[in-house]
Amino acid sequence: SYDELKKCTNNFSESNQIGSGGYGKVYRGLLLDGQVVAVKRAEQGSMQGGLEFKTEIELLSRVHHKNLVGLVGFCFEQGEQMLVYEFMANGTLRESLSGKSGIQLDWKRRIRIALGSARGLSYLHELAHPPIIHRDVKSTNILLDENLTAKVADFGLSKLVSDISKGHVSTQVKGTLGYLDPEYYMTQQLTEKSDVYSFGVVMLEMITGRQPIEKGKYIVREVRIAMDKNDETHYGLREKMDPVIKNTADLIGFPRFLELAMQCVEESASDRPTMSEIVKSLETMLQNDG
Ligand code: ADP
Repeated sequence: SYDELKKCTNNFSESNQIGSGGYGKVYRGLLLDGQVVAVKRAEQGSMQGGLEFKTEIELLSRVHHKNLVGLVGFCFEQGEQMLVYEFMANGTLRESLSGKSGIQLDWKRRIRIALGSARGLSYLHELAHPPIIHRDVKSTNILLDENLTAKVADFGLSKLVSDISKGHVSTQVKGTLGYLDPEYYMTQQLTEKSDVYSFGVVMLEMITGRQPIEKGKYIVREVRIAMDKNDETHYGLREKMDPVIKNTADLIGFPRFLELAMQCVEESASDRPTMSEIVKSLETMLQNDG
């Protein structure tokens, strides 16, 4: 209830605030039963937020997977809109890659995070009934729990594939610059492969540590250029790599990881792998490590 949420976040105090996003602020809270939660509170009077909140509740109450951030509850009371999630102690993948969260992700951990996220997305695409396209896959929507298990969050923009096939799809392209599938942008035809493109950009972020667009340079283009410059050892790419992993002696599966990322960001959607193919490839990389 509103009163419990108010209490458990210490009256929405600033000291309990952990972030702010598209539709309001996010607080850390402690429920009466001892569970730590994240409470997302909508900015008063944001209509757009209201719609995204409902989408998020509808979808999250139907999907359950260990690589998707779970919705613990919600509250529409006294003019408030709040969503209550399981708390993700290690914040977003972006924060870790930027070195802001104090944890350094080694190479193998990065593969595991990619694999976890891919499993969550593959569940949405292939096992959820009806299938769901996330539409806003990015490193700030991949959260890490206390064990550094990756969970995909933020379903506010998600679409049911069944709505799309019925033609109930707005012509307005949605998503985040830098992650947006160019083919979807041009044709406005939304498919699962748009999530695959965005996921490929996230994989490139894991390699370079950088955000998709930095200093006017686009990560996909940068990596392509670095790869073209050199032979199949991709030595030129070393310069572009995240310093945290750059000098690691054994980057298990690295060439395959890079190849997979580049397949995901292929211009043409039909050249990109499916999410379950990505899951299999990443699993193989980890298995081959013995
Ligand atoms: P946006 O709308 O920009 O995607 P959100 O409103 O979803 O952002 O979240 C804002 C910030 O709050 C995130 O960047 C993250 O740091 C934090 N956050 C969101 N959800 C959780 C959660 N379940 N556990 C811990 N922190 C969270």
